[in-house]
Amino acid sequence: MNDSTVYLNGEWLPLSEARISVLDRGFIFGDGVYEVIPVYRVSDPALNVWRPFRIEQHLARLVRSLAKVRITDPFNEAGWCTLIEKAVTLHVSSHANDTSCLIYIQVTRGIAARAQVFPAHSTPTVLMMANSFTPPSALTREQGVVAVTAPDARWLHCDIKSTSLLGNVLMAQYAAEHNAVETVQLRNGELTEGSSSNIWVVKAGRLFAPPSNHLILEGIRYRLLEELAAEAGITFEARIITEAELRAADEIMMSSASREILPITRLDDCPVGNGRPGPVFAALYAGYQRMKERPLSADEGIKIDAKRLAAQ
Ligand code: PMP
Repeated sequence: MNDSTVYLNGEWLPLSEARISVLDRGFIFGDGVYEVIPVYRVSDPALNVWRPFRIEQHLARLVRSLAKVRITDPFNEAGWCTLIEKAVTLHVSSHANDTSCLIYIQVTRGIAARAQVFPAHSTPTVLMMANSFTPPSALTREQGVVAVTAPDARWLHCDIKSTSLLGNVLMAQYAAEHNAVETVQLRNGELTEGSSSNIWVVKAGRLFAPPSNHLILEGIRYRLLEELAAEAGITFEARIITEAELRAADEIMMSSASREILPITRLDDCPVGNGRPGPVFAALYAGYQRMKERPLSADEGIKIDAKRLAAQ
C-alpha cells in the first residue's frame, strides 16, 4: 500500500499510522458521510496548477449530507479548501507523474459508548486523503462498458452521501462477479442509479435521467450533464424511466467523479442501441473535457509551490 500522508483529526500523518477508535460511530454504525472530489492538473506544462473540479458543488453536497444526518460541520468552506489544498500539495510532491487525483473526505459522528441514539457530546472524526486516479482510457470510452441490472434493495435515503454503503458494496460486487463494470439498479421496475454512479438514458436524441429525489444520490455530474446537454442543444428531461424504456434505449451512460462519463454498450448481455457509444455521449464527453480545461478564474486552482513543498 502506498503510504501517503493523510489528514486525521487535526494531524497529517502516514496512512499506515492513521488510527481511529473501535468506538468510532463510523466503524460501529456507518454513522458518517463522505465526499469524493476529482482534482486535475491544468494541462499547461509550464504551470503546476491543479483544479479541484466543481469544488463548490462538492463542498455544498458535503454540507447537505452533514445537515441531513445532523453531524456538525467541523469546518467552513475556507477551512475545507485549506485542507484540500494541503492534501493535493502533499500528493503531488510524491506523485510527480500524476495528472489527476481524487480527494476523499469522511466525517463521522465521532466516538461514544455503543448506543444507537446520538451521543449527547461527541467530536466528529475527520479523515481526508488524496489517491491517484486515472480517468477511463480512450479504448474504454470507444468500446463502452458492460453493465448488469439488479433490484435496488437499498434504504430510502439514497440522497445522503452516507458511509453506510453495504447495499452499494453488494451491487458493486454483483457487477464484478458478472464481468460488468456497473450494476444498474431498478426499484419497482423503475431505474434508480448504479452502485456508484448516476445512469443516463438516450432515446431519439433526447437525454433522460431519473428525478433527483431520495431514491438516488444527486451526483455532482448530474447538474453538470444537464448544463452540458443544454450547451450542446440536447433536450434533457428528469423523469421516471421504466425498465422497458431502459432496455429500449438508444444510448445508456454512467457518470461519476472517477468514471467521468462512460457509455454502457451492453446491458444484461444485450447490446444497447447499435452496441456502440452514441452521439449524445460524444457531445457530453467533449463538453466535460472542455470544462476540465477551461481557464481558471483568479481565485481558482491550487498552485503547487516548490519552495513550500520542500519545507514540508
Ligand atoms: N450515485 C451513487 C450511489 C454514487 O456513489 C455516486 C458516486 N459518488 C454517484 C451517484 C455519482 O456522484 P458524483 O457525480 O458526485 O461522483
